[in-house]
Amino acid sequence: MESTLTARDRVGVQDFVLLENYTSEAAFIENLRRRFGENLIYTYIGSVLVSVNPNKDLEIYSKAHMERYRGVSFYEISPHIYAVSDNTYRAMRTERRDQCILISGESGAGKTEASKKILQYYATTCPVTDHLSTLRDRLVQSNPVLEAFGNAKTLRNDNSSRFGKYMDVQFDFRGAPIGGHILNYLLEKSRVVHQNHGERNFHIFYQLLEGGEQNLLSKLGLERNAQKYQYLVKGCCPRVSSINDKNDWRTVRKALTVIGFHEDEVEDLLNIIASVLHLGNTQFGEGKNGENQITTEPQLKYLSKLLGVDGAALREALTHKKITAKGEEMISPLSFEQAVAARDALAKAVYGRAFTWLVVKINQSLAFKDDVYNSSKGSSSVIGLLDIYGFEVFQHNSFEQFCINYCNEKLHQLFIELTLKSEQEEYEAEGITWEPVKYFDNKIICDLVEGKHKGLISILDEECLRPGEPSDISFLEKLEDTLGGHAHFVTHKLSNGKTRKAVSREEFKLIHYAGEVNYSVNGFLDKNKDLLYRNLKESDMSPLWRFDEALVRHQVKYLGLMENLRVRRAGFAYRRHYETFLQRYKSLCPGTWPNWQGRLADGVATLVQHLGYKPEEYKLGKTKIFIRFPKTLFSTEDSLEAR
Ligand code: ADP
Ligand code: MG
Repeated sequence: MESTLTARDRVGVQDFVLLENYTSEAAFIENLRRRFGENLIYTYIGSVLVSVNPNKDLEIYSKAHMERYRGVSFYEISPHIYAVSDNTYRAMRTERRDQCILISGESGAGKTEASKKILQYYATTCPVTDHLSTLRDRLVQSNPVLEAFGNAKTLRNDNSSRFGKYMDVQFDFRGAPIGGHILNYLLEKSRVVHQNHGERNFHIFYQLLEGGEQNLLSKLGLERNAQKYQYLVKGCCPRVSSINDKNDWRTVRKALTVIGFHEDEVEDLLNIIASVLHLGNTQFGEGKNGENQITTEPQLKYLSKLLGVDGAALREALTHKKITAKGEEMISPLSFEQAVAARDALAKAVYGRAFTWLVVKINQSLAFKDDVYNSSKGSSSVIGLLDIYGFEVFQHNSFEQFCINYCNEKLHQLFIELTLKSEQEEYEAEGITWEPVKYFDNKIICDLVEGKHKGLISILDEECLRPGEPSDISFLEKLEDTLGGHAHFVTHKLSNGKTRKAVSREEFKLIHYAGEVNYSVNGFLDKNKDLLYRNLKESDMSPLWRFDEALVRHQVKYLGLMENLRVRRAGFAYRRHYETFLQRYKSLCPGTWPNWQGRLADGVATLVQHLGYKPEEYKLGKTKIFIRFPKTLFSTEDSLEAR
């Protein structure tokens, strides 16, 4: 067995289950810091990979690195996203079961980069045949396109995904990628019409203006100057040093072709992008008779041409509304403010639909085509990649944070179920008795949110549909009536000084498994009716090559990493087949060196006793040894390599 670990790779512990002081958050963070200082950004908690964003290129993603991680087990090589990719792939192949990799963390943590690295790993290392190689290209090329239309510069991340993404990669019986599917959700459409200071609109606008050929821009009625467009000037930052819009434009144009967009489809897409810019420059003013009217005729002309709608109808739609009174349809003029709002709503809707259509097209291109590759019918498996925000806790939290935190609560529940269940199954199969571990089961919080009739979401839905005058405050009162007394639900009225952060009169507090969060009910009803966007006011929390302790601490807490570690530590951190174990460590014990002649299990027992493990520290199963805390073994790895 070959090991590629060096002494440097083993700064601190490479798996938190080996951390002696495993209940201490300070020790946890110190371990991350020490490793980070050596450019070791990855550390495991069992099969969970913790990653600290280095914000600089580390030379650890080459093809040679990919090769090193193929078929190697976690403990034998430095922790890496490729090890997770490879283990997932092998589990899919050997167990013939679908797998999923969940990537979570705050904005800028490195989730999207991680998902791209996983995809690249599969694209590079999996077997392909000629007709599948184009699929591989399409899978990889779908990224720049999605990012052009769905990513933007924010204060936290120059390439921040403004939508959630779940991607499936489908493999055939030989392990070759044969198809893919993307599910997108919650595109932040509000960004199309407004950006906070220091932020930009979606990349595609700037790419088109910077990189589009002159005759294309003329056809679209655009000028090569982002400053001219109202929807692009709100954040006061048309250029970003880390972004080359002109080059990115070329990449995106090429990617669209690789994915299989026809020229006329690309044209439709760009017409929509241009029409959003023209909408933004559409102004209103007072006409001769005091009525509100459009004062920018050229924009209207381009809009009707690009969107293929009648100019008069568009003018009417932007300045008037239809109302039905006593069964009769009437047209009434919009005020200036109403017209501006209608214009912005149209821009957001048009862009949102274009994005949805884009994803549909990408999915058609990635879809597994049975006729292309018949023999894989019925025997394919899937690896899913979920790129999702972790727990969000701001000074001010509302509906958006509620949704994302509920989602994380569900993911944690899934994690507990899967980890403990699979552990239990393995111990049973190996004939090992184990006492069930005490851990906090967050089902109680999931039920509080999603329970039928009496759950928070049910109550919210009911309140939205209730005749009369439902309001955010009446919703809060309903919550108090129904959920008062629940151990994880607190409001101003219900609190009796038992919580750390005071709850104001418009808030309720949920005690999540990862910590307490106060949610303001303002806007809950409206947002529940139209789940449109997430508009986060973010502070500049800037990308530098340094270990930002506050940021790390926050995520250790709200990603539930300590709880995660506790669950892991409850079982046996290390397990290995007898034969493999003996082969690797036999040289450490005179009784097993150079060869053990008897039963494998006896050899292993001789070895671990010699290494000083007490009977309660290990268990011998049918085919494997289980060690609770294999500290001594790891401290010997260096000397093993020297032999
Ligand atoms: P998230 O999706 O979590 O918001 P991203 O994946 O977009 O964050 O990462 C933000 C930025 O951080 C990237 O654009 C890149 O510059 C940097 N980054 C992320 N992961 C890595 C990494 N493994 N190595 C180097 N830089 C990284
Ligand atoms: Mg992202």
